[in-house]
Amino acid sequence: MKFSALSYVAATAPLLTSLVQLQLLIPNNIIVEAKPSNEYQVVFQPLQQQQHLAGSSNNVNYYYQGKLQEMLLDQINTSNEIGDFYAQTNYKRLIKTSAHRKPRWMTEDDIHTLRRMGVKFMDVTEAYISKHLASSNQGSDISSKDIFSIEDIDIDDNQSLMIHEHSSSSAKEIATKDLPKLPTQLIYQDTVKPIVSNLTTSYMEDTLKRFTEFHNRYYDSSYGLQSSEWLLKRIQSLIDEYTSSSTSSPTKVTVKHFKHKFKQPSIIARFEGQPHTSSSSNNNKKVADETVIISAHQDSVNMWIPWFGRAPGADDDGSGTVTILEAFRTLLVQLQQGNFRPQRTVEFHWYAGEEGGLLGSQDVAHYYRRHDRTVVGQLHFDMTGYNKRPKNKDEIIGVVVDNTDIELSNLLRLLAKTYSRLETRDLECGYACSDHASWNQVGYRSAMAYECDDLEANSNIHSPKDVVETVDFNHMVEFTKLAIGYAYEVGNAI
Ligand SMILES: [Zn+2]
Repeated sequence: MKFSALSYVAATAPLLTSLVQLQLLIPNNIIVEAKPSNEYQVVFQPLQQQQHLAGSSNNVNYYYQGKLQEMLLDQINTSNEIGDFYAQTNYKRLIKTSAHRKPRWMTEDDIHTLRRMGVKFMDVTEAYISKHLASSNQGSDISSKDIFSIEDIDIDDNQSLMIHEHSSSSAKEIATKDLPKLPTQLIYQDTVKPIVSNLTTSYMEDTLKRFTEFHNRYYDSSYGLQSSEWLLKRIQSLIDEYTSSSTSSPTKVTVKHFKHKFKQPSIIARFEGQPHTSSSSNNNKKVADETVIISAHQDSVNMWIPWFGRAPGADDDGSGTVTILEAFRTLLVQLQQGNFRPQRTVEFHWYAGEEGGLLGSQDVAHYYRRHDRTVVGQLHFDMTGYNKRPKNKDEIIGVVVDNTDIELSNLLRLLAKTYSRLETRDLECGYACSDHASWNQVGYRSAMAYECDDLEANSNIHSPKDVVETVDFNHMVEFTKLAIGYAYEVGNAI
């Protein structure tokens, strides 16, 4: 009960959105021109209209992107100076808000302000630290692999940050060149179609209801830690249920936490790849080591009071979390019945800290890159539950076309067409939109499935209003079908 007052503030915050944005963000006397915006659509009210807000919902909204955003960013007290490197990293984070803008050192307050502005960002501090350490430890254990393509950050002679725009694309070309081929036809339809036609939503509903009962799942709070521990236990109990008894499947299934520097760990569950022939040739071993990733993010955030505010995060991204959990559970059932035995290793990732700047997924992706893991492709689900379509209209899946891999996105379209009733639409998601960007950035293939074709459709997210009642489980289960199809079609080598 001790948070009730804060919860009240959080619950009423959306009503005060414009006012609070004003007080927190708008410097005095900014003159803003009305301009429609697609990218960072931020709504502001000029100061002199504050007093009218309560009584009128039809005040002129000022839409602006680009310049206003940059003006506001400049108001935030940031610095590009390295100064004392360790002092900086003790209390500031290095934040990138676009591919073409230099990263900046920002305080937690600055970062919360960004979030309230609706600006997506990547926290590249860890990547920068490893790069810094590597460059000051030349010849030591930290090899060039550690900094391979991590983030386009470098220090020039003047000790200011500079960006090498072209380094990562060449690194990506090198990285993707030797990746295993993706299927262009779906050859497991006879197996997959009966499975996906029998899916139900009851386990998803039960899980999401409980998952959203955590006050929030903020990545650097005890709530975020508790929710992650709860989810890990739930996954472990599924594994125990379906693999303990007399099942003699050779496929080993495990789940574990992947720890970070902040409180909430990511979760990685895996079906270990098994060669299908009895020989143990090198090639079989190689295929078994190839990893196929299905992912979502487990954290949630209240954009006004991140640590204490209520953030049920039902759609963002509780929906993706239970969408892939249902796929995981279904594959366990099939494994028990002898119908699922992937040659490749199939992993399910639930990332921590997406809302903190793609923190969890960056740590995991960098780890896999450093350890030379062959990742065939990462299929990410961030928000699958919001479906405000008029009745009798087609259900939509947004296929994200920026910071993703073309081939893997094509496969996602094929999976949607073959295994679901979802109509595909291309969607631009923007810089640091979600965890697919972390994998894309280090040169792995990634694709991202989204609930519709409008990024602004669900205005409840990052607030106490993102509750279970607003999501559509029948829509979500269509996305589960894609994850299952992907596990069969890519989990086995061509
Ligand atoms: Zn999200």
